[in-house]
Amino acid sequence: MKQLKLEIERVQSSFQTALMQSNSLEALEMTRVTFLGRKGEIAQLMPLLKDLSQDEKREFGPLLNVLKESSERAYFDKQTLLQNLEYEKAEESDKNFDVTAYKPGSVKGSLHLYTQATQRFEDIFISLGYTIADGPEVETEFYNFEALNIPENHPARDMQDTFFLKLPYMVLRTHTSPVQIRTMLTQKPPLAIASLGRVFRYEATDASHDFMFRQLEGLVVDKNISISQLLGTIRLFLGQFFEKDDLQVRARPGYFPFVEPGLEIDMSCPFCTKGCSTCSHTRWVEMGGAGLVHPRVLEHGGIDPKEYSGFAFGFGVTRLIMFKYRIHDIRLLHSADSEFLKQF
Ligand SMILES: [Zn+2]
Repeated sequence: MKQLKLEIERVQSSFQTALMQSNSLEALEMTRVTFLGRKGEIAQLMPLLKDLSQDEKREFGPLLNVLKESSERAYFDKQTLLQNLEYEKAEESDKNFDVTAYKPGSVKGSLHLYTQATQRFEDIFISLGYTIADGPEVETEFYNFEALNIPENHPARDMQDTFFLKLPYMVLRTHTSPVQIRTMLTQKPPLAIASLGRVFRYEATDASHDFMFRQLEGLVVDKNISISQLLGTIRLFLGQFFEKDDLQVRARPGYFPFVEPGLEIDMSCPFCTKGCSTCSHTRWVEMGGAGLVHPRVLEHGGIDPKEYSGFAFGFGVTRLIMFKYRIHDIRLLHSADSEFLKQF
């Protein structure tokens, strides 16, 4: 009997040692299985009772029960203690979570070429004393056509393939020129505005055409406005955008209903001095349209053409960007191709 007593004491003491050394929930679970499990050390003491006499059973039965119950209680206490510790540790590490910590492999973004170019254009025009003006992309036929001297049934309407909306007399603007009318109707001359934005044409898409592209528009109205002022402004603007001090512009006659005379603007090729593939070996590149504002357009803007005159010019922003950065497919500018976009 002495042996059973010793055995109980041994199990009790080794359980306490194991419990003390269980410093994690995993280690504690090992201790539980070893001592309190169905085949654990305490369970293995139980069968020894049945070989004892009634008196001995009365002595050792309660001893074994006490061992079992006190061990279980000690185990649960230790479990609660360890769980609380783990919870506090997690809370502490949450508190110290560093949102600015370096995350390997993260992708850095940059401004889209359109945004970069728009900011550059606006900087140039603001430095020249222009105001930046804006207008809606869904426009009335009046602002998009009639007011710009393109009456209904006029052949000039066919020059721009238009998206007509189901709403009566509403279109997606085919150029940024309606902003000219909107500005003249709300501001008194002298005025100088630049407007940038998206325009829409009903066109099939290929490498050099898209149904949506961006335009840039300038309008100056004052007394005694001349073509030399117009050409000087365009030369300054293109020279700054292409970062060429010696950039030249030339004008050829062109037809745009809202200007008279109308001019096609060419600039000297910024990439060569003797001709290259970009300028088709001509040294000149077509850049946009311009002219003196048609008297009828001034009238539609509420301005007396006998007193005031004006000049206007328009460039394709998309074309300027493609040209400067030598992009050969317009669709790349509107794609989400990150390999393409991250070059800029
Ligand atoms: Zn060239």
